[in-house]
Amino acid sequence: MQTNFSLAQLADADVAESEKILRNCVHCGFCTATCPTFVLLGDELDSPRGRIYLIKDMLEGGRPASDKVVKHVDRCLSCLSCMTTCPSGVNYMHLVDHARTHIERTYKRPAFDRAVRAMLAAVMPYPRRFRALLQLAKPGKMFAGLMPGRLRAMLALAPSTPLSRPLATGRIVWPAEGERRKRVILMQGCVQQVLAGRINDATVRLLTRLGCEVIVADGSGCCGALTHHLGREHEAHAAVKANVDAWTAEIAAAESDGGIDAVVVNASGCGTTVKDYGFMLRSVGAYADRAVAISALTRDISEFLAEFDDLPFTDVPLDRVTYHSACSLQHGQKVIAAPKDLLRAAGFDVSEPAESHLCCGSAGTYNMMQPDIASRLRDRKADNISRTRPDMVATGNIGCMMQLQDTVDAPVVHTVELLDWATGGPAPGGLDGR
Ligand code: SF4
Ligand code: SF4
Repeated sequence: MQTNFSLAQLADADVAESEKILRNCVHCGFCTATCPTFVLLGDELDSPRGRIYLIKDMLEGGRPASDKVVKHVDRCLSCLSCMTTCPSGVNYMHLVDHARTHIERTYKRPAFDRAVRAMLAAVMPYPRRFRALLQLAKPGKMFAGLMPGRLRAMLALAPSTPLSRPLATGRIVWPAEGERRKRVILMQGCVQQVLAGRINDATVRLLTRLGCEVIVADGSGCCGALTHHLGREHEAHAAVKANVDAWTAEIAAAESDGGIDAVVVNASGCGTTVKDYGFMLRSVGAYADRAVAISALTRDISEFLAEFDDLPFTDVPLDRVTYHSACSLQHGQKVIAAPKDLLRAAGFDVSEPAESHLCCGSAGTYNMMQPDIASRLRDRKADNISRTRPDMVATGNIGCMMQLQDTVDAPVVHTVELLDWATGGPAPGGLDGR
């Protein structure tokens, strides 16, 4: 694609990066067929190619974002299905991230939108605040049907199941069972701790059973994805830097005693962001190299477990598991086979739904900000999953679990919970008693 940026514009590192991305696009339109919003809405401007044109026009003109650009960029799920399909290697993720930052800087949203976005940014990355908000929201859940669109969506998403207590603050170490074979840093996350603390519990049980020492680093927290996808670059970078500082200190402390083998992430939405830390902080001098090192060390839990060839599987019922491949895992991280291979090795009968490349509509805060599109995608996904007649559904991202749990007629669990169960841990919630 031909671009027309001035030399002065290209002096801005972000614009220069976006220009490189734009020049890779050959307008072929292959990406449109696998874009969930284009599949649903049939509007070229809600396809990757359409959005690329809108972003190009906005950035080249050096103008504030228009209502039209905001509407169509806001409708993008950042599912990255287009990146899997694109034959030209267009890095749509970095382009749309830049567009979101530009929108946040130059566009004044309606007051209600601004308030909702500010509230999400101020609450969701902080487990204690988020837990308190959900406690308040629980009684309001029964009135959700009476509320307008976004409020209704937010209340509907408040879980009816008991909330988990967030992990203790400060450094936490779980020693390996038996001889230590590896040492890993676990990203404790934010939202997941509150909605399903059992995922971290299962991860720690499984890793320590395999001989891993597991560390949560003091000062680490939210990966920054929530604010990053809202275009709030300053807040996202603050979260990223805090993690880079905390994890770098752990890596340095372990250097003389075997080192750190991996930063393990068990929420794939977060993992995609942590693997991009090197890019996010590329221009932040003191952090650039350390961020690259952290990204290189980061593994999704399924990727890390696939490195073991001696997982101690015991007998589990040969239950039919439908594996829902989270977009952030399959498109963002290209981790496709490992979770299914592990589940099959554990003895589960694994199938996948039709249209497995399409997003379930969760996409971070998308299901609250764009509830209509999100619920249509959720119902389409649930329908495809139900056709596989699962005993249970496994996935690698908390967002997908929350999005699907009340729509699919089977328990929706994290892949690591099933692997923990298959190696001697307790049955995951909803499967107790089997
Ligand atoms: S990220 Fe997903 S929703 Fe956005 S343009 Fe690409 S395929 Fe479409
Ligand atoms: S598939 Fe890639 S090259 Fe083709 S229009 Fe989409 S982004 Fe551009």
